[in-house]
Formats: sequence, C-alpha cells, structure tokens
Amino acid sequence: MKCYYHKENPAVGICQACYRGICQDCVAIQESSICCNNIICKERTNNLFTVINTNINAAKSRKVRSSYIFEIIMGILFIIIGYLFFSPGDNSFAIVFIIMGLTYFLYGIFPFMTLLYQKRKISKK
Ligand SMILES: [Zn+2]
Ligand SMILES: [Zn+2]
Repeated sequence: MKCYYHKENPAVGICQACYRGICQDCVAIQESSICCNNIICKERTNNLFTVINTNINAAKSRKVRSSYIFEIIMGILFIIIGYLFFSPGDNSFAIVFIIMGLTYFLYGIFPFMTLLYQKRKISKK
C-alpha cells in the first residue's frame, strides 16, 4: 500500500480517522494511535478516543459501585425487622419497615441485575 498523499512512499500505517494509507512523513501520533498529520484527522482521532475513554471510565465506575450488596443486606434486614414486629394488632410500624426494606432491596437489586445482564451480553460476544 502507498501513502495517500505521496504516491511514491510506502504506507507505514492507516489513519484511524479516514482509513487512508499514510507514510512516515504524514503520520501523526494521537492518543497512542496513528492518523494523518492534519487537523481534521487529528481531531477525529481525538474524539474517537474520548468516546472510548468515556466508556472505559463508565465501566470502571460500575465496577467500583459495590454498595448494592450493602443495600440488598439492609433491605433484607429491614424486612426481617418488619416481619418480627408483625403482630395481630397494629401493623403500621411493621409495614413501614417492610416498605423501607423493599425499597432498599429493589434499589440494590436493580443495578445488580443490569450488571449481570451486561456481563452475560459481553461474554456472549
Ligand atoms: Zn486521515
Ligand atoms: Zn505521505
């Protein structure tokens, strides 16, 4: 393959923005990736990597978020307390606990389920 800009030079790589062959004279290094040494391709490559980095950061922050386990435990505890307070008479106190427990539990279980679903989706690829 020859350079898109210099037909006589062999291409050393392909631009990540426009997918044209580029030679040693035209190559620019942008975010550990190569592209044409012009503003349009440089900017496009930068934008591409910003998107990738944002996705990596989002995936990382999802991994960091492990507090859902705490929320699930709290939810179960509240439900147990609510259950223990259940009596044939006035149950408003127990019901408040159970509702609080369910809220905690659902709040904790929801991101957990989406995490499992995403993991399954990734492993299928
Ligand atoms: Zn290019
Ligand atoms: Zn060139």
